Amino acid sequence: MKNQYLLGVIETVKKRNAGEPEFIQAVTEVLESLLPVIESRPDFVEAGIIERIAEPERQIIFRVPWTDDNGRIQVNRGFRVQFNSAIGPYKGGIRFHPSVYLGIIKFLGFEQVFKNSLTTLPMGGAKGGADFDPKGKSDGEIMRFCQSFMTELVKYIGPDCDVPAGDIGVGAREIGYMFGQYKRIRNEFTGVLTGKGLNYGGSLARKEATGYGLCYFTDEMLKANGKSIAGKTVIISGSGNVATYANQKFTEFGAKVVAMSDSNGYVYDSNGIDYRDIVKLKEVEHKRIKEYVSTHPSAVYTEGCSGIWTVPCDIALPCATQNEIDKQSAESLIKNGCFAVSEGANMPSTPEAIDVYMKSGILYGPAKAANAGGVATSGLEMSQNSIRLSWSFKEVDEKLHSIMKSIFASCDKAAKEYGMEGNYMAGANIAGFLKVAEAMKAQGCV
Ligand code: NDP
Repeated sequence: MKNQYLLGVIETVKKRNAGEPEFIQAVTEVLESLLPVIESRPDFVEAGIIERIAEPERQIIFRVPWTDDNGRIQVNRGFRVQFNSAIGPYKGGIRFHPSVYLGIIKFLGFEQVFKNSLTTLPMGGAKGGADFDPKGKSDGEIMRFCQSFMTELVKYIGPDCDVPAGDIGVGAREIGYMFGQYKRIRNEFTGVLTGKGLNYGGSLARKEATGYGLCYFTDEMLKANGKSIAGKTVIISGSGNVATYANQKFTEFGAKVVAMSDSNGYVYDSNGIDYRDIVKLKEVEHKRIKEYVSTHPSAVYTEGCSGIWTVPCDIALPCATQNEIDKQSAESLIKNGCFAVSEGANMPSTPEAIDVYMKSGILYGPAKAANAGGVATSGLEMSQNSIRLSWSFKEVDEKLHSIMKSIFASCDKAAKEYGMEGNYMAGANIAGFLKVAEAMKAQGCV
C-alpha cells in the first residue's frame, strides 16, 4: 500500500494506541483494504472520516469490587468502549475473561462498527467487559460480580443509547443478573440488554443465531463459487455458544463435524460430533471437552488447542477466540485439503494467516460478515422489545437467514465494484464502512 495519507493515519493509530496490538491489527486490516475507496472519495478524506472512525467516541474504565464466598473483597476492572453511534445506538457484547484489557475491548468495538453496519439494522458499535474469570466461580460469586459491574455500567447505557449483549464468558445467566440489577436501579423494564431469557423479553433463536448465521453465510459463499456444504468434513474450534450451534446447523446442511476444542485441547471423532452431546457436556454439566471421550469410544482427545488445525478437513470454522490461527496453522489447514475458512470468532486469524488464505486462493469468510448473525438477531430482539411482541423461532430464523444472504451479497458486490472479486474481507470492510462514513459525513464534525 503506497497511499501516504492512509500510511500516515495508520502511523498515528499505532503511536496513539501503543501497547494495544489487537486494536492496531484490526484497524490496520480495515484501513488497508479501504485504499480504493479513499482514492475514489476525496470527500471522505476532507471530512476526516478515517481519522475519526479509528478513534472511539467514548471509553469508560471502572472499578468492579465484589465479595467472594470467603467474604474477601476482590477487585476487577470493567470496560465499555462506545465506538461509533453514526447509524444507531451503541450495540455490542460484554466479555468476561482474564485476558480482557482496553486493547481487546477496543478491537472488538471497532470491528463491531462495521459488522453492525453490514446487518442493515440501525446499530452503532460498542463492546465491553471485565478481566474477571468466571471459571470455577460459584453462582453467588457470579451474581455479585454481575451486580457490581452493572451498578457502574448503568450510568452509561439505555435502550436508546447503548444496548450490551453477551460474548465470551457472558451467557444467559450473566445477562439475567445484569438485567435484574439494571431494572432495580432504574426502576424500568426496557430492552437494555439482548440475549435475555425467553420469559423476560429475550428472542427465540438468539442463542443459536451466531452459529446458524455462520452456516448461512458460508452456504452463500460456497454456492457463489459452485460448491456446497453437503458431504463436507468440518472442524470447529471452541465448544461454546458459537461453536455448538454452528455444529448443529452445518450438520443439518449435510456436513460432518469431526473435531471441536476448548482452551486445553481438542477431540476428534471420525463418526462426527453430535452437538447435543456438547450442549449436555458444556451447558448442563459444565465439563471440559476432554470428558467427551468417556462417553464416545471412537473419539480421541489431544492436549493443546492449536492441534485442531492439523486435522484434515474441507471447511474450518474458528469459533473460539482472536488470533487462534497463525501462519503455521493456516498452512497446515491448506496442506491437508481445507478449501474454506469461515470465521465464527472475532479476528481469529492473524494477518499472516490471512495472507496464506489469500495467496492460496481458498474461500475466506471474514468474521465481521460471517459472524454477524448474533448481533443481527440482537437487533431483532430490540425490535420485538420495542413493539412488545414476540416472533416465533421460525420467523426470527427466516429473518436471520435473509440478513445473512444480504450480508454475503453486499460483500460480494463491494469486492467486485472495487476490483477485488472474491475478496470477501475487502468487500465486508468496504460495504460496512461506506454506510457509516456517509452517515458521519452527513452529521458533520462530531
Ligand atoms: P463462549 O464463552 O460460549 O465459548 C468460548 C469458547 O472458546 C470456549 O470453548 C472456550 O474454551 C474457547 N476459548 C476461549 N478462549 C480461548 C483461548 N484463548 N484459546 C482457545 N480456546 C479458547 O463464547 P462464544 O461462543 O460466545 O464466543 C466465541 C467467539 O465468537 C468470540 O470470539 C466471540 O467474540 C465471538 N462472537 C460471539 C458471538 C455470540 O453471539 N456469542 C457473536 C459474534 C462473535 P474454555 O472453556 O476452555 O475457555
